[in-house]
Amino acid sequence: MSRATEAIRAAVIADYATGMSSLEAARKHDVAPSSAGRWIRQAGIARSLSESKKNACKVDGCLAKHCARGYCNAHYKREIARADIERRSPPIHIEDVEWMAETGETWFLAAERLGVKENTLLRHLERAGRYDLVRKLQRREVAA
Ligand SMILES: [Zn+2]
Repeated sequence: MSRATEAIRAAVIADYATGMSSLEAARKHDVAPSSAGRWIRQAGIARSLSESKKNACKVDGCLAKHCARGYCNAHYKREIARADIERRSPPIHIEDVEWMAETGETWFLAAERLGVKENTLLRHLERAGRYDLVRKLQRREVAA
């Protein structure tokens, strides 16, 4: 191993030891994740997956270190952005949407009456698994 590689190896191991994930350490030092993983295993400091997850972001499958409210930096920013959008939109009550679907409202007017963008309404109904309401309201849009 060259001197330069040896220095990178030491840096990867040091970062991993302070709680960084092997993937993060690999990215930071611009080495293949497989090399970083091997060095860490060879150094005998590899953490088990559950140990890694202990200090990691609460998003499933993300092993980045948590930084705020249990999220890693990237996921925290994403959560802030999402929460911001939700705070700015008035709440959508499924019963209202059901009522509008029953009474013949169009998709466009349904969104307008709820005071939300059509995309927001779509996301909300998708998340609630109410594709039936999307179809009902949008079908009327075409017919109208
Ligand atoms: Zn994360």
